[in-house]
Formats: sequence, structure tokens, C-alpha cells
Amino acid sequence: MSLANWFRRAQQPLSPRLQELVGKVVSYLKDRPAEDEAVPKFIAKAINESEVSVFTALRFLEERGAAKEWFAVFCGTSDVPLGKFAALQDIPKELDCDVCDTQHCLVDHTCKVEVVYTINRDKLSDFDIRESAA
Ligand SMILES: [Zn+2]
Repeated sequence: MSLANWFRRAQQPLSPRLQELVGKVVSYLKDRPAEDEAVPKFIAKAINESEVSVFTALRFLEERGAAKEWFAVFCGTSDVPLGKFAALQDIPKELDCDVCDTQHCLVDHTCKVEVVYTINRDKLSDFDIRESAA
């Protein structure tokens, strides 16, 4: 058995449910070629799935390099963006807010975190769900 075939066989088979979810998310993203950033809760609303389901599909895409997760922090009062972070643990305890002229922190809920995915259009465009399922 060639190494390439071994890797292919070692991959987890896609469940029909995950296959359906990934297919829906991919076609949602392909319908919006101008958007490089996707917010899971908006996708969930648009395709009529739960946020958890959309996260599952996006994580699947991330493992294949078609999406990258990051975290946006917003002022809880004014919705002004306070920063972008690659990981949750990268978010500092306190963030300066020019609008409120104070510091916000996640613990007292004076700011909020949104999970965002950057879409890799090149990877997504050659992404074929039927091929991954085989
Ligand atoms: Zn603020």
C-alpha cells in the first residue's frame, strides 16, 4: 500500500450528517465569494442549523486548511472592536476602550468575544465534499 493511500484510509470516514452540514456551509460560503470572514452564528441562521453544527462543519474545513478560526473582541457597550486574537488564551485580561475611556475585561462581561473564521478561497474552491466522503 502506498503512503498516500494509507493516509487516505486512515482518515475518519465522514458521517452522512457531517457530510450534509459541511456541504451546506461550503455552498453558503461559495455563494458569497466577496466575504473572506464568516461568523458562525450568521451562517447558522442563514442555513437553518444550530451554531454547534456550524462550528463542527467549520472545524472540519479548518482541519483541511479551508478556514481559520480567530477571536474578535468587542466593547460590550458600543460594539467597537477592541482586538483580534488567534486564540482565546491570547486575549489579555484587560483591554483598553477609547469609546468608554476605560478598560474592559471578559470576566465582568464589559466586552464580548465573537468567533470568526477567515475563509481560504483557494482551498474552498477546490473543496469537493463528495471527494472527501469517498
Ligand atoms: Zn467600551
